[in-house]
Amino acid sequence: MSENAFLKRLENGGNLVVAEGYLFEFERRGYLKAGAFVPEVVIEHPDLVKNVTEEFVHSGSDVVLAFTYYGHRRKLQVIGREGDLEKMNRGALKIAREVAKATGTLMAGNICNTTLYQKDKPESIKECEAMFKEQIEWAVEEGADFIVAETFSELGEAALALECIKKYGKGLPAVVMLVPSTRDVTVEGVPLGEACRKLEEAGAAVVGLNCGRGPASILPLLKEVRQACQGPIACLPVPYRTCKKFPTMQSLIDPVSGKQAFPVDLPAQLCGRTEIKHFAQACKEIGVQYVGLCCGNSSHSLRVVAEVYGREPPASRYSPDMSQHFMYGNKPEFFQCHTKSLRNDYDGTS
Ligand SMILES: [Zn+2]
Repeated sequence: MSENAFLKRLENGGNLVVAEGYLFEFERRGYLKAGAFVPEVVIEHPDLVKNVTEEFVHSGSDVVLAFTYYGHRRKLQVIGREGDLEKMNRGALKIAREVAKATGTLMAGNICNTTLYQKDKPESIKECEAMFKEQIEWAVEEGADFIVAETFSELGEAALALECIKKYGKGLPAVVMLVPSTRDVTVEGVPLGEACRKLEEAGAAVVGLNCGRGPASILPLLKEVRQACQGPIACLPVPYRTCKKFPTMQSLIDPVSGKQAFPVDLPAQLCGRTEIKHFAQACKEIGVQYVGLCCGNSSHSLRVVAEVYGREPPASRYSPDMSQHFMYGNKPEFFQCHTKSLRNDYDGTS
């Protein structure tokens, strides 16, 4: 039996529903710039970050992920705000801790791809390690239950992140996730199932895939991961209509403009809630224990995942009930007015 609250939840096949997607959500709301994608909103509008965090829990997230994604040294250098690095990280971690404590959820620290990892350059590895170290140590100090290391295209960088969590994480468990590209392998050419197995063997508590691909194109890879690994696996796709021809959100072509949809035209490619439901059902069948949605996530979609996984979050009070709709509902009084002819006019039924 584990003492760690996160590991306890995963014992005996237990599962966790996890909301990600803070970057896209704040970009959509006008508080974050697409391009650099740095979570400056943590410093500029901490109240809003707390608000969205609470909303994700309200919709069924069992985990509060501190919004430190791309809040690392390299990204802050790009926008000239390196001096705010610690303030931004500690600010995000404190919000996450506060909301997790108030809602009885778990809190996770978050590290990700550094954008400067080069496997053959020792100085690059050293720099990446220093970046991971500082973010992990802040997460430990601010009370994280576990650390999420995510969106790695290279197995080598994911393995380095895991090593750093083991070295600097004071025993906190690690969730390590790779981002699938249009190819079914890592940058090094390792099949994703095999890559996840290596990370599991190296000591990750949960391994899996997140971001990059939507439900339809991530599920075949997820089956490979399930076959290759023994322990808990993770899946958090982007909720976009990727397919065999366009497997990633970056490869999606907008049918109207004929141009790349990423990032500004992606909303036109969003999955419907029925697709999200089918995705969550598939994850349940495959045995995914750490499930959720990444970039493009919104509360009504996450609620669908949570409900498929047997939760009834506060937001379920407002889950759709069309029996109360004046045109489509079933109350006798609805039929006393023009219901039938209105339906005919609007949806073409007779
Ligand atoms: Zn993402």
